[in-house]
Amino acid sequence: MFRSNERKCFTIHCAVHTDIDRILITRQQIAARVRDMAQCIAADLESLAGDGRDIVLMPVLTGSILFVADLIRELPHKIKLHLVTVSSYPGKSTASQGASLQSELPDLTDQHVLIVDDILDSGRTIRMLRDAVAARGARSVRVCVLLRKKIPSALETPADYIGFDIDDEFVVGYGLDYDNFYRNLPDVATLRKEALR
Ligand code: 5GP
Ligand code: MG
Repeated sequence: MFRSNERKCFTIHCAVHTDIDRILITRQQIAARVRDMAQCIAADLESLAGDGRDIVLMPVLTGSILFVADLIRELPHKIKLHLVTVSSYPGKSTASQGASLQSELPDLTDQHVLIVDDILDSGRTIRMLRDAVAARGARSVRVCVLLRKKIPSALETPADYIGFDIDDEFVVGYGLDYDNFYRNLPDVATLRKEALR
């Protein structure tokens, strides 16, 4: 029988690491930075919570799943979660195809909303969502991203909390995908060009 405190040894075929070119940000660096960001966010939420309005965390699926799972466990406030799906890099594309919301937002009248996304690139996703959230009556809108590319479109898009600024390369891991693979890689990395088919 396989007990939970035992590790089974077996050969892994198609291991996620075989397609990795370089690790840009390690899991340890991510964990430390997420804790720091959570401290800043918690301090800001504390001042917002004073007015008694609801606080809504709005993670953008699917790329932000690991980030938001780690982030929310560091936040001590009573918060609601509303997941949104925005399509921008469908399938094997490595260039933004424009952002569109896949479902309607709920009524956000008088609520404080924190949008959480994996990466800021062209800025279309964040700009579109910020406008949509404001249009639904939110009292305040803040933006938190784990990664931001060092390109004008990203740097010029206002964001309140930024984990890491990275060079303009296509990255995967810690939730970010290529053709829906590599999300389970615990680090942020670039792919070997043979893997980008
Ligand atoms: P934007 O709308 O800012 O161009 O892009 C935001 C979305 O595009 C992100 O939420 C992410 O899903 C996707 N994206 C942008 N850059 C990358 C990248 O380097 N790697 C991956 N995997 N997705 C990216
Ligand atoms: Mg995304």
